Amino acid sequence: MADKIKIATVSLAGCFGCHMSILDIDEKIIDLVELVEFDRSPLTDIKQVSECDIGIIEGAVANAENVEVLKDFRKQCKTLVAMGACALSGGIPAMRNHFTLEQCLRESYVNGTGLENSCIPDDVELPMLLNKVYPVHQVVKVDYVMPGCPPPADMIWNLLTALLEGRKPEFSAEDIRYD
Ligand code: SF4
Repeated sequence: MADKIKIATVSLAGCFGCHMSILDIDEKIIDLVELVEFDRSPLTDIKQVSECDIGIIEGAVANAENVEVLKDFRKQCKTLVAMGACALSGGIPAMRNHFTLEQCLRESYVNGTGLENSCIPDDVELPMLLNKVYPVHQVVKVDYVMPGCPPPADMIWNLLTALLEGRKPEFSAEDIRYD
């Protein structure tokens, strides 16, 4: 094994389910902590990504802040991994691509059941939504992908150990899921 490597992770338009799958590595997470150091990640309280060996992206790209964060990750991380169906293809967040942004906002905030005196939120603090949701590779170059919703913990473990050992990750047929 090489020296400790630095990993950053982020959830863009995702549900954190892929990050839960990282925790599903179970007791091997203790081995992982011996091997890696976490930079920006929901697992730490670091807000900005710095120079890292591996960046792992969960979720699709749905707003201007997602684009900015993703570009930062691409700039700072030697290897970028798209983790899970949302990052790979847009997944569930991209279901809104069948409608216009205006239709989605009106359905959610104006016409939805049980809403009274409703209005579409409009605050400078809110990130600007993109007209469409994009998979990660349509915004930046991606080095590896892990399909699945979420990818199984064994796949995440295999990818990390392969990269740690300087090998190209290879996944078994059982690990690869497109659900
Ligand atoms: Fe959640 Fe599945 Fe998307 Fe991962 S791929 S962020 S588990 S919906």
